[in-house]
Amino acid sequence: MILATDLDGTFLAGDPENRQRLYQLITAHQGIQLVFVTGRGLEVVVPLLSDPAIPRPAYIICDVGATVVDGNTLQPVYPVQSEIDAAWPGELPILDALQHFPGLERQEVPQQRRCSYFCEPGAVTDALRQTLDDLGCDLLFSAGMYLDCLPRGVNKGSTLKRLVQQLQLSPDDVLVAGDTLNDLSMYEQGFKGVCVGESEPALLEATADRASVLHARLSGCGGILEAVVHFGFLGPLGVDHELPDLNIKGKAELVMVYHRLPYEEVQESGQWVRRPPSSPNGILPTLLSFFARGETGSWVAWSIHEPRKGHTFEVHTDVDRQLYPNLVAARVALSKEDVDTFYKRFSKEAFWPTLHTFWERAIFREEDWVTFLKVNRLFAERTAAEAAEGAIIWLHDYNLWMVPAYLRPLRPDLTIAFFHHTYFPSADVFNVLPWRRDIIGSLLQCDYIGFHIPRQAENFVDVARGVAPLEVLETSSCAPRFLTYGCAVGLDRMTTAIRVHDRKIGLGAHPVGLDVSRIEQLVQAPDCQALMETLRQQLRQVRVVLSVERLDYTKGTLAKLLAFESLLDAHPELIGKVSLLTICVPAAREMTIYDELLGQIEQAVGRINGRFSRVGWTPVQFFYRAFPFKDLIAYYLMADVMWITPLRDGLNLVAKEYIATQGLCHGQGVLVLSEFTGAAAELHGALLTNPHDPHDLRDTLYIGLTLGQAEREARLKEMYQIVCHNDIGRWGTEFLEAVKATVEDILPEDTRGAA
Ligand code: UDP
Repeated sequence: MILATDLDGTFLAGDPENRQRLYQLITAHQGIQLVFVTGRGLEVVVPLLSDPAIPRPAYIICDVGATVVDGNTLQPVYPVQSEIDAAWPGELPILDALQHFPGLERQEVPQQRRCSYFCEPGAVTDALRQTLDDLGCDLLFSAGMYLDCLPRGVNKGSTLKRLVQQLQLSPDDVLVAGDTLNDLSMYEQGFKGVCVGESEPALLEATADRASVLHARLSGCGGILEAVVHFGFLGPLGVDHELPDLNIKGKAELVMVYHRLPYEEVQESGQWVRRPPSSPNGILPTLLSFFARGETGSWVAWSIHEPRKGHTFEVHTDVDRQLYPNLVAARVALSKEDVDTFYKRFSKEAFWPTLHTFWERAIFREEDWVTFLKVNRLFAERTAAEAAEGAIIWLHDYNLWMVPAYLRPLRPDLTIAFFHHTYFPSADVFNVLPWRRDIIGSLLQCDYIGFHIPRQAENFVDVARGVAPLEVLETSSCAPRFLTYGCAVGLDRMTTAIRVHDRKIGLGAHPVGLDVSRIEQLVQAPDCQALMETLRQQLRQVRVVLSVERLDYTKGTLAKLLAFESLLDAHPELIGKVSLLTICVPAAREMTIYDELLGQIEQAVGRINGRFSRVGWTPVQFFYRAFPFKDLIAYYLMADVMWITPLRDGLNLVAKEYIATQGLCHGQGVLVLSEFTGAAAELHGALLTNPHDPHDLRDTLYIGLTLGQAEREARLKEMYQIVCHNDIGRWGTEFLEAVKATVEDILPEDTRGAA
């Protein structure tokens, strides 16, 4: 069947349950072709297409019939569109001709091949009719206030009829749905029709004698469902027979959806064995701590599964029966190839560069996007099966961007929260992504979205505003917690709640913190103290500048090396007295995009050492390997200056780890930090530097090396207090509290899911 439906008052109306039922029916049923037939302009229909809760139409007839496009490509349907174009005299002759008619005010909305006015009653005079007739236009006056000037013979019904002919479909298979006089022409083409409940009386009157038109009892989507059953479109069993069973619910009150399991699965002598997480940061233990008091929960993550004969894949496994008695891991089975495409290749090649504003490096492959969608759908389906009624779902990071789009229609009852662990760029950069509408449409299904810092949340608002009409509901001041004008990623006010597609979404800034007690244990451990002593002995007489990062073009390693070279050129008195220790963690072997960068870094290190080395002193010590976290702590302890220079970074944990380590030992270390890291907005007291400016990089490092003791101590104290107060535990608790507060705050008339 073809369902050709008006939008406002019809397909976008009705009680939420009926809307959801109709939308699910259309999505689940291959045999229903949807056509939007609307008075809106195409640009105002586009935002609906990014709302995954609303089924995508096969065709869109908009501008009251004057525009007809394919629903996927948004390209005109020829030759129907050409015929309309030929009948249109153009906008300017109409504006000219109507400018002196009283009671008309041009509507400030997108419009093509039609001119729309607000019209006072009585303004539609014979003279006006004659003027438009002379121009070759039809006049459509509706709802006592709207006047549309249209190409002659063009209206919703005529264009729909031409489309149906063009597609060689039978008029008997068409159901038209509407609610105002504007829709009348659709009922005059010999199709079956429904005037949904609460339709405009004039439409009901005008269609009263038509046998093929049902006047439905229910409004909006409810009325359309009535008509589907009434006309027997889906056979004698009607609508419910066609609906998928959505009542499979799980027991978990809180579902963590994280790409990694909370334990590691490694292969030893051909067998998969489990190990505790080796991740140095404290996120996994913190997320697990939410299940430590016996809360019923589930942790959804991928697990590699290569189907073999006689080997069954276990979806559910325990995480730790003693510590988390009611937590299960729910594993999404993926092939190694899917993991490599989805995670190691596509996410790193397409999304990582774009998110960090290096969009020119991004590589977009449509076939990888298809895999990304498949993996996200599997995550959503597993999550839907795990969650109890009304559960909270906590999704992590951009690998899972499309999960809300699949999850929301399956489970409108859930509270969906999302935390972004990376930077989030502004619209100028984000919009480069070919799938930006899908991604934002998906994120807009969430109830709450968290970022590290206000700038990232505001950038999200900026991007979302370009996808759908957005209303800012609440804002809040960023100070005193965050820097405002003091760094490149500072901001004075941030948006904390928006309304889009009739849904309220909370936004918040939650910079990830550290488990300071864990660092304290490591600092006190004898082997850490011993390593620090050894290092100090080896580097006696030398002031140490430390740099720790992954090999990545976002980290600014090359710019840093060049600045260090220029420092030695500008201050020869430092030769023999200062060494730069650079720890650079290799990228996974599959990530060949980093090979060139490594070559450039190695070349720079070689050149600097070649130029400046003395017997017993090497200016740059370059370690191209990962250090165990406990060893890193010893390096943090003995570094005089920590030099962190990313060109862009969502947060930067290394900066906080350095401060925690120094603070725990009453050190006097200096943090020189890129003002393009998220941490810069939070760590008051850091010496901020612009890594894009070679002079500033060099000069700020020099200031760091020459800072007086009192200032070093004061800065460290300020930062240490921040790191201790805003630790990882507070991060998790505040995030979940903010999620709950947003949901509790949602007004009763708000509807989730079906909106
Ligand atoms: N790290 C490590 N060994 C190393 C270098 C880094 O364990 O040799 C850890 C470091 O302690 C930090 C993490 O890797 O916890 C890096 O986090 P950050 O936020 O600074 O950067 P990301 O790699 O997430 O962009």
